[in-house]
Amino acid sequence: MAYFGTNGVRGKFNELTPDLALKLSQAIGIYLGRGRIIVARDCRLTGETLRCAVVAALASVGCKVIDIGIASSPTAEFMIKKLKADGCIIISASHNPPEWNALKVVDGKGVAISKERGLEIEKLLGSVAAVQWDRIGKIERYDTANAEHIEAIKALIDSKKIKKKPKVILDCGNGTAALIAPKLFRDLGCEVITLNGQMDGTFPGRPSEPTEANVKELIAAVKTKGADAGVAWDGDGDRVIFVDEKGNYVIGDRVYALCVIWKLGKGTKAGSEIVTTVATSKAVEDVARRYGVKTRYTAIGAPYLCEEMMRKPAALGGEEVGGVIWPEFSLAKDGFLTAAKMAEAICEKPLGRWLGEVPAYYNVKRKIDADDKQKKVLIGRVLEHAKKSRLDYFDIDGVRVNLKDAWVIVRPSGTEPYVRIFAEAREGTEAKRLADEYEKIAKGEKKG
Ligand code: MG
Repeated sequence: MAYFGTNGVRGKFNELTPDLALKLSQAIGIYLGRGRIIVARDCRLTGETLRCAVVAALASVGCKVIDIGIASSPTAEFMIKKLKADGCIIISASHNPPEWNALKVVDGKGVAISKERGLEIEKLLGSVAAVQWDRIGKIERYDTANAEHIEAIKALIDSKKIKKKPKVILDCGNGTAALIAPKLFRDLGCEVITLNGQMDGTFPGRPSEPTEANVKELIAAVKTKGADAGVAWDGDGDRVIFVDEKGNYVIGDRVYALCVIWKLGKGTKAGSEIVTTVATSKAVEDVARRYGVKTRYTAIGAPYLCEEMMRKPAALGGEEVGGVIWPEFSLAKDGFLTAAKMAEAICEKPLGRWLGEVPAYYNVKRKIDADDKQKKVLIGRVLEHAKKSRLDYFDIDGVRVNLKDAWVIVRPSGTEPYVRIFAEAREGTEAKRLADEYEKIAKGEKKG
């Protein structure tokens, strides 16, 4: 059985048990060269129990453990370079419901471990042997990671720009964002109102994923308090979404498009490129093209983004759900640095006006029931259609067909018995027409 998914090993407590966490962490320790390993966890109720298993496992195979305690994912990943660590294990199920937890693994270069590299770790499971009693690794507590992360972000932000003292409402969602965001934004000179700012592993304030439906309280607060912006993070702080001054929700890939405008607008080096996944809105590619910057696409999942940015430099990386990588800082999606850059931007002009520079697209989502065998058949039909019709397409992760001012992706769900169709166009009617057309093509009801 494979344990690693797209980004780490995820499960409810009866699946990701302390016993499994211990065995996997021993194998991870060996895979990472029995070196210096950072361990962090979020505030979930199962976190401390799993931490004990992870820390014991790493020490038992001879790793030196640097336990930074409760910290966000970008904080743990930022500390890898700073502490010259050989990797980290983050105990966090990100945006999942509170009964879930996960082990996310990142190597010494800051690259998250993909499913494929996870298989290499799983191969070691049968041959794990603890070291001799006098060779077990030291376990050290390190208590200043959050403060160091905040200071490092501040060093990248031009605080003179923030003298206008924008009013921002921060929805920490009872997650680890509470450790970073309120202090960071106050230090930067913003007027801060915090929602759900107490860490609580049951996530009583709102579900951990910052979807529009889940941040209704934030949207209402921005309007009633007359704030310049609202910001909400997921449970481990790598993903961020915004609410503009009029209370409009800014979805993840538009957050990324804003970052592209902000960064590339400050000047681009010749030959600069940006990276994103095949599920990201064309708005991102459109804004990058304005600066003469090409977009490179990867499979869906943070590890693939990281790997691609490691393989060939890029000015920025980002995914459709609001995770943005600033490579001059770390290869982690950092929701705090991303939000701090926005604070700088809104002192130049309101968020709504920045958003006016991002082309509007409409999308339609579909799913078709399909078992593993049918998934291959359906995707195969779409690929054949794209080839026969000489369309511009990528088949990195499912099949994405690129059309003028529109695109459609047909891809198998990694975890559920569905093939998903996602179509995007400048008009809602065109997006629907495309979704209908590709549903028929996938089902074999329409010949290409
Ligand atoms: Mg996350």
